[in-house]
Amino acid sequence: MREHTWYECHCEQSGCMFCDGGLGACTVCGGAEGTLTTECCGRRLTEEEKDKVYKEGTLDYLDGQWINPKEKERKHENDNR
Ligand SMILES: [Zn+2]
Ligand SMILES: [Zn+2]
Repeated sequence: MREHTWYECHCEQSGCMFCDGGLGACTVCGGAEGTLTTECCGRRLTEEEKDKVYKEGTLDYLDGQWINPKEKERKHENDNR
């Protein structure tokens, strides 16, 4: 399991989305909140990849590889048939 490297903000300003808001952001892959993959892929995500993770939900990084969470669901349905 490769963990994200969480960004630590030390600005100590009230209203800061990291210090006050508790926003989680990874300094390695650049993911934050909705664009975070389950595991860290170890490199910076492209804008296209972020869109797939966050908006479409068709991309995630798990067990050391890129997966499509939606495809997995579809496969599961077929197994039950
Ligand atoms: Zn801060
Ligand atoms: Zn990461």
